[in-house]
Amino acid sequence: MKGKSKLKRIAMLTSGGDSPGMNAAIRAIVRVANYRGIKSFGVMKGYKGLISDEIIELGPRSVSNIIQRGGTILKSSRCEEFEKQQGIRKAKVNLERNEIDGLIVIGGNGTYRGGYDLGKVWSGKIMGIPATIDNDLYGTDYTIGYDTAVNTALEGIDKIRDTADAHERFFLVEVMGRKAGFIALDVAVSGGAEEVLIPETKTIVKDICERLCAGKKKGKMSSIIVVAEGNEEGGAFEIAEKLKKMSGNEYRVVVLGHLQRGGAPTAADRLLAAELGAFAVEQLMKGKSGVAVGKVKDQLIITPLKHTWTKRKKLNPFLLKLVPILAT
Ligand code: ADP
Repeated sequence: MKGKSKLKRIAMLTSGGDSPGMNAAIRAIVRVANYRGIKSFGVMKGYKGLISDEIIELGPRSVSNIIQRGGTILKSSRCEEFEKQQGIRKAKVNLERNEIDGLIVIGGNGTYRGGYDLGKVWSGKIMGIPATIDNDLYGTDYTIGYDTAVNTALEGIDKIRDTADAHERFFLVEVMGRKAGFIALDVAVSGGAEEVLIPETKTIVKDICERLCAGKKKGKMSSIIVVAEGNEEGGAFEIAEKLKKMSGNEYRVVVLGHLQRGGAPTAADRLLAAELGAFAVEQLMKGKSGVAVGKVKDQLIITPLKHTWTKRKKLNPFLLKLVPILAT
């Protein structure tokens, strides 16, 4: 029927690493779907709940008072069974039994791969929403949760700088980012770090050691080295050991860890979640499937799911060059 959605029942799930703003996305999907006369369903615990048929109906009141909360009301999980054909088949049967005709998967790289594989056997429509603190998804400038994670890590860096400065110390601060240095680079620039070590660039410990010593000679009271957990030459503890052997100096290590995943989403993450959640429903209504929504240069766009992991989003090269210059 022209102008009216053929979609009747959409389901959504959050999967993989949780990120602040997932709840805001769930809320936007449910409320926009309701506005469009579509029923919403929540799948509990990501792909696990799709296999075990934990699917609940969500109405506009089910998503009250969650926009400001970190984590996800639908819970998340990592589900190995879903990476096998048998698991995917079970999921397909459950989607059919619940008469779901559209599924929105909210998560990162792995979650998208799962959605892509499901699309090979299930005839319903599949849509991805990018939500990961790592920001390592092609097809969107920012992922939901990234801005909150950067601000949380930055708060930590600022506090470390106070004590580093008081005691004239070198600190290595490890931030999240198994395969990408987005958090590390943004935190390094905005926190005034002296060095940033990320998976995308080569780490030469000898050069870092020389720059840190030169900084001290020039009167620097403290130095902060931001290290992405997936840095190719090692995490913060390993680099600290290498630096110590080379220079004899003491290096303190702080691993910010999972606290970067928690907390209330920032305004930027809530806005992005609202826009992408609403846009995902609209795109499903238009018949789009096997794609992920995103925002690039302020425009809402869709990208084939496969491109989100076969293409690589680049770090800002200007920022990378800026770190050592701003630290002089
Ligand atoms: P994220 O979505 O945050 O990157 P993971 O990489 O842990 O998180 O993936 C989340 C889940 O997605 C996995 O536990 C699994 O159920 C599913 N998944 C990941 N990779 C694949 C794959 N290649 N095929 C099918 N499902 C996958």
